[in-house]
Amino acid sequence: MKTLIFATSNTHKLSELKNILPNFDIKGLVDIGITEDIPEIGLTLEENAYIKAKYLYDRTGATSFSEDTGLEVNAIDGAPGVHTARYAGDQRNPSDNMAKLLHELYDKEDRSAQFRTVIAMIDGKEVKYFEGVVRGQIALQKSGNEGFGYDPIFIPDGYDATFADLRSDIKNKISHRALAVAELVAFLDDY
Ligand code: IMP
Repeated sequence: MKTLIFATSNTHKLSELKNILPNFDIKGLVDIGITEDIPEIGLTLEENAYIKAKYLYDRTGATSFSEDTGLEVNAIDGAPGVHTARYAGDQRNPSDNMAKLLHELYDKEDRSAQFRTVIAMIDGKEVKYFEGVVRGQIALQKSGNEGFGYDPIFIPDGYDATFADLRSDIKNKISHRALAVAELVAFLDDY
């Protein structure tokens, strides 16, 4: 079983990745003994993913992967985008973030949005990027108890329910992260 090291300590994300990639040995930062926060100072999702993968590669010399995800809402020029995690402040609180976004959109007709995940891979020979996008709408109010982050207010196209209403196995098939990981897995097939 191949080991993939991801620059994350987020247990939700790791368990989603494990569901999406049952044939790989997925390891996070904690599994390899890195507990410090990696600074996210990039101005784009690509830059942040690169910075974190490079940090991990410089520390370990091993093939390193890092992903960065943003929620891009069209009516507010793609915000919160690279600021998605800290949209309502450094406490990175999902309820505060969702409250702020719902407030920003209260008078907007266009509630279309997309989750976009960028994965950077660094192995000392090359740098590669993989991308996954899921389009949808920002709901008028929160619904559902599954998932994490902005899931209770994101309705993916083709569904009448938020990500937090959907079963995790359904979300894991259609999500931005699943699509980015699918690109990554296709690449790893002949890596
Ligand atoms: P990260 O780059 O994966 O840490 O994600 C940045 C922000 O996007 C965090 O605040 C997450 O809560 C949010 N986010 C990422 N993926 C998802 C998702 O699948 N559902 C809801 N929110 C997400």
